[in-house]
Amino acid sequence: MGRRAGRAVMALPGPTNVPDAVLRAIARPTIDHRGAAFAAVVRSVLADLAPVFGASGPVVMYPGSGTGGWEAALVNTLSPGDRVAMCETGFFAAGWAQLAAKLGLVVEVVATDWHGPADPEAIGRALGADSEPPIRAVLVVHNETSTGTTSDVGAIRRAIDAAGHSALLLVDAVSSLGAMPVGHDDWRADVTITASQKGLMLPPGLVMLALSERALAAREDARLPRAYWDWGPMLAAGQTGSLPYTPSTNLVVGLRTALDLLFEEGLEAVFARHRRLAGAVRGAVSHWGLETVCVDPAALSDSVTAILLPDGVSDSALRASLLERYGVTLGGGLGRLRERCLRVGHLGDVDELMIVSVLAALEMGLAGHVPLEPGGVQAAMARLAREEPLPVA
Ligand code: PLP
Repeated sequence: MGRRAGRAVMALPGPTNVPDAVLRAIARPTIDHRGAAFAAVVRSVLADLAPVFGASGPVVMYPGSGTGGWEAALVNTLSPGDRVAMCETGFFAAGWAQLAAKLGLVVEVVATDWHGPADPEAIGRALGADSEPPIRAVLVVHNETSTGTTSDVGAIRRAIDAAGHSALLLVDAVSSLGAMPVGHDDWRADVTITASQKGLMLPPGLVMLALSERALAAREDARLPRAYWDWGPMLAAGQTGSLPYTPSTNLVVGLRTALDLLFEEGLEAVFARHRRLAGAVRGAVSHWGLETVCVDPAALSDSVTAILLPDGVSDSALRASLLERYGVTLGGGLGRLRERCLRVGHLGDVDELMIVSVLAALEMGLAGHVPLEPGGVQAAMARLAREEPLPVA
């Protein structure tokens, strides 16, 4: 392969672009994970993650990926044979359900057609009709990365309350945290999970969970085997900065810088930027005459847009040609949506021109393969130009 000039563009919905300042922080020499300097970093990142989770309680952090966070949430709160209800909104919700089943939990699937958000009424009905032994936890993916759909977690909490049910609420915020508001306390979520490689703008390798009082209490009775994922020994780190086994030291140092960048921009401004970029992408998609996988306009995600492809058009062939021709990496269809959609990530360290260039690559790359009304990029640019500039901190 010859050299490609210019910068390759990552438009995956995770892992996302890592800002240069974060790369520089990660590239510093590794420091003693039991030393005072590192302990100070651990204490500060755990404290500063809390507002990003919208949490007032403890946050724990492990070396691992989002999948590990799913497991941590379950093994610390549940026992073999416990029933859990999964709002199955797409590939990631289905994956979490499979993991729960492998751990010996009994999963009640509250299905969707993967074209919309979790249905609070269906959850309410499932809980209202609950029998013995009761459902112990409701599991929901806040932002379903495979379909580009955001579920209303607050409405699910209200449905649990309205059913007078005591189930725990476990939330996957892997592709929303740092890109859109996450309200661990407001939702009265018991566990909220995120990972480093999406809105937090780091490489993969860290997983973080915000915990409620009820989640902490549930651990006392939970009997699923737990060792690596036991959050008990992790909890003291908020005060001591000392972790029970070797942490991903350089990523934790990078997280300090990533949080500084988020706070410097301001969380509200970060969320507004994601909303604006998502709007531009959707504007282009509808101008092109294409459809999104998510059919509910109110539930379209601010961090990823999944574009449905016409029958017979393969997403893997399109993605390969976009990468080769324009250096743009996009996500493809997963699970049931395999070869049926393109997923454009617009989260993390992205700005307007980066998104316009991704849209330009799409418009050029799709033409000839997909019937397309030209001018989508122009429509997106016009829309961005009309909007007020974002506040600069
Ligand atoms: N949950 C969501 C919403 C995701 O998007 C992903 C991965 O993309 C995961 C969980 C799994 O995370 P990981 O691949 O980091 O294990």
